[in-house]
Amino acid sequence: MSVKSDIIKVTPPAFVGGGNLKEDIISSGHSCGYCHGNGFFWSEELRERVKKDCPVCNGSGKLDAVITIEWKPSNNHQK
Ligand SMILES: [Zn+2]
Repeated sequence: MSVKSDIIKVTPPAFVGGGNLKEDIISSGHSCGYCHGNGFFWSEELRERVKKDCPVCNGSGKLDAVITIEWKPSNNHQK
């Protein structure tokens, strides 16, 4: 579940000609839902408690959301 909320205003950027009509928006600083922002789990190995890095956020406790917007010609234009 996302707690942090970002609002994305979708506005076409000033494209220079054709080509790659994609843009990436990065929304960073989201708390990792897998480890609940801790970045690690306690794991029992050989009767010792060891910290294991979260495999989802690699131990950072945070996630970045990369939102890719692809621009393409509209199919809805009137004829
Ligand atoms: Zn995590």
